[in-house]
Amino acid sequence: MDFELNEEQKMIKEAVAELAQAEIKPYVKKIDEEKKIPDSIIKGLADLGILGMTVSPEFGGSAADPVTTGVVAEELAKADFSCAVPTFFLVQCAWGYVLDKYGQREAKEAILPWVTKGQAFLGIASTEPEAGSDVANIKTRADKRDKAYILNGEKMFISGLAEILNQLPKGGGYVTLAKTEFQRGAKGISLFYVPVKGTRGISPTYLEEWGRRGISTGGFAMEDVVIPENYLIGQENKGFYYAMEGFDLARALIAVVSSSAAQSALSQAMDYLKIRQAFGQPIGKFEGLQFKVAENWAKLEAAKLLGYRALWTYGEEQRGKKSRWETTRLCAEAKMLAPVFAFEAINEAIQCFGAFGYTEECPLHLALRGVRSYYWAEGTVEIMKIIVGRELLGKEFIAYR
Ligand SMILES: Cc1cc2nc3c(=O)[nH]c(=O)nc-3n(C[C@H](O)[C@H](O)[C@H](O)COP(=O)(O)OP(=O)(O)OC[C@H]3O[C@@H](n4cnc5c(N)ncnc54)[C@H](O)[C@@H]3O)c2cc1C
Repeated sequence: MDFELNEEQKMIKEAVAELAQAEIKPYVKKIDEEKKIPDSIIKGLADLGILGMTVSPEFGGSAADPVTTGVVAEELAKADFSCAVPTFFLVQCAWGYVLDKYGQREAKEAILPWVTKGQAFLGIASTEPEAGSDVANIKTRADKRDKAYILNGEKMFISGLAEILNQLPKGGGYVTLAKTEFQRGAKGISLFYVPVKGTRGISPTYLEEWGRRGISTGGFAMEDVVIPENYLIGQENKGFYYAMEGFDLARALIAVVSSSAAQSALSQAMDYLKIRQAFGQPIGKFEGLQFKVAENWAKLEAAKLLGYRALWTYGEEQRGKKSRWETTRLCAEAKMLAPVFAFEAINEAIQCFGAFGYTEECPLHLALRGVRSYYWAEGTVEIMKIIVGRELLGKEFIAYR
């Protein structure tokens, strides 16, 4: 067992930390207020070669392994504890990986080179107004006609829509779940690359959220949207299983991001504990406050290590050394614990600031609101428990069959 990063990972970590601390951290409040990651930050990430870093070099990525991707996510979250920039990063790594692995050349060429250049966004469109956790129940359908698929349906709570439609020069789109065999539940779902900007039949909606506001959320209705047949990702009716690979990667990365964002918040609280005086001494001398820091720090270390263990296992699975099920369980375990530990830790960190913690001047509310999104995004905490329970007890204990 080796907990050391290799030399290449250490170099990447240092380079990302330098960029993130200098170019992202000072602007976190502005990002939240203006509800937008500045173009200069996106360009900085692209110039460093980390956007879509999981995709193949022929599309501008570096086929980065999951642990290295986690190292980058950790540094981004340390700087931007509102979680907007890390989300922008991790979503594209997860879904860029799936498109690169299973997609056809035409779809990959249409989007991946622009993702890695920071000129387009690639996300996931799974959730619908009437189906979130219950993915098998989605209503969007894709019907084959000649050399095209016709998509009808609606997606909701989708990250990155304003970036695609209003910010990035080449737009972007989504790895989108749609039914190709309607009656077969999960076994009738296929994955498609759906470009959103400039595609006829797409009507967007925007949502106002109270956290990680630097990355937008919205929805889009599809009415007779025509996409080329080669935008089908992998084989028909296997989309649910490809999508789970993307969710697993995103979940493990979210565990690292949540823990890192919360440790950044705790570090700020510790600085305050050293200078704030009460009862004639720095409040950091009181064990009541030390215990808050110690307990939460240890829980965050545990959650982060579980996230890295899930990422490492994901990499081993890519090399054929671990099973898909073990990977899925570890990713779900990490995602089940980390956002909850993170939210509780940030709440305690805010408590250390006294009334100042409740002012806009104290930025920790950005972190609190940011990590809270991960109770839902990429699969809820409750669904993670269902996955872990299924893997521990056996598939015959799934309640929905
Ligand atoms: C900030 C943010 C960004 C998001 N970005 C995206 C995105 O880019 N793409 C995308 O496709 N989706 C996205 N989502 C949606 C997210 O994936 C869904 O919110 C999530 O899957 C849950 O679906 P739902 O909101 O419809 O809740 P529901 O499925 O309606 O569930 C409601 C509640 O019931 C619980 N629940 C449901 N079933 C069970 C059960 N069997 N046992 C116990 N509890 C249960 C859930 O955990 C939840 O707490 C995003 C969500 C958020 C908050």
